[in-house]
Amino acid sequence: MKSAAADDPRGALIATARAMAAAGLNRGTAGNVSVRSGEGFHITPTGMAYDRLEPDDIPAMALDGTPLGRRKPSSEWRFHRDIYLARPEAGAVVHAHSPFATSIACLRRDIPPFHYMIARFGGDTVRCAAYATFGTQELSDAALAALEGRNACLLANHGMLAWGRDLDQALALAVELEELCGQYWHACQLGEPVLLGAAEMAVVLEKFSGYGQQESA
Ligand SMILES: [Zn+2]
Repeated sequence: MKSAAADDPRGALIATARAMAAAGLNRGTAGNVSVRSGEGFHITPTGMAYDRLEPDDIPAMALDGTPLGRRKPSSEWRFHRDIYLARPEAGAVVHAHSPFATSIACLRRDIPPFHYMIARFGGDTVRCAAYATFGTQELSDAALAALEGRNACLLANHGMLAWGRDLDQALALAVELEELCGQYWHACQLGEPVLLGAAEMAVVLEKFSGYGQQESA
C-alpha cells in the first residue's frame, strides 16, 4: 500500500496531509506537514486544500530557506527547517491545530505525567512553547527550546507539533499526543489528575528506549 507513495516523497507527503483530517487533527487548511528529502525538505503549500493537492503543488525548500516550485510553502516552514537542522534523525514533521492540544496550549500549560504514555515523547512532560507570532523565527526558536529532548510540543495559543523518523511515525505521534491531550482534558473535568512520580516515569522512559527500536524493526 505504501510502495507507490514511498517512490515519491511528495506523494507520501500528500497522503499524510490527507490522513491528518481523517485522524481528526485538522479541518480546512490549518496545519502542515513536511518530509526531509535530499539536502532539504518538501512541505505542504500555503492555503491549499489537501484533497486537491498534486505532487507538483508541493514546494521543496533548501535548509537555508530557499523555496523551489510553483507554489508558496507553508508560512510555518521555519520550525520545520530548524527541526531538520537541529535533529539529524528527524525525517518528517507534522504540525496541527487539533482541538484538545490547542485547547491546552491556550492555557499555556505543559502536559504533566498524568499518564505513562507521556514518556513516548521523550520525557516526563510535553512542554508548551512560549508564544510568538506564527511563521516567525521567534516561534521556531521557542518551539526548538520546548523540543529539547522531546519529539513533540505544544505551541502557546496556537497548536502542536511532532517529529519522527518518517511521515508515518510523525503522524502517529501527533495522533497519540492529541489523544493524550483529550484524556488529560477529560481527567481535569473530574478533578485534579494524580501525577506519576519521577521514579515511575524513569521506569517507563527506560522501557520506551527499547520500544522505539522494536517498532522500527
Ligand atoms: Zn499553525
